[in-house]
Amino acid sequence: MNDDCIFCKIIKKDLPAKIVFEDKEFIVFCDKNPIAKLHLLLVTRTHIESLQNISNNDSEWLGRMISIIPKLAIDNGCKDGFRIVSNAGINSGQEVPHLHFHILGGRDLHRKML
Ligand code: AMP
Ligand code: ZN
Repeated sequence: MNDDCIFCKIIKKDLPAKIVFEDKEFIVFCDKNPIAKLHLLLVTRTHIESLQNISNNDSEWLGRMISIIPKLAIDNGCKDGFRIVSNAGINSGQEVPHLHFHILGGRDLHRKML
């Protein structure tokens, strides 16, 4: 936990968010500024800054993190496809330095990037 981190505050329920899923490792809530009809954020409960901090030792939980995405997309109305984005580090424009995947869908995303 990082006291200055927005996502850690949401995890601690110190900040409100529309939570659609949570288990002991991950939490999923709606992005407050959605850029697609569906725009969820899949967030680790552990404060890890980004994919820049990931190594081979993380493959098991990272696999579990990715494996919950298809059901999340279907349960939230995106049976016909979705896009995953994870900004990592300063050159990506990452705003919140706590590892997360954007799950985007609900319309034709074409080539538009986050
Ligand atoms: P990134 O640039 O990949 O770090 O994206 C951070 C995302 O977090 C942005 O899409 C923001 O709209 C979103 N965000 C920031 N604060 C909140 C919040 N309190 N609740 C929900 N989403 C948030
Ligand atoms: Zn955090």
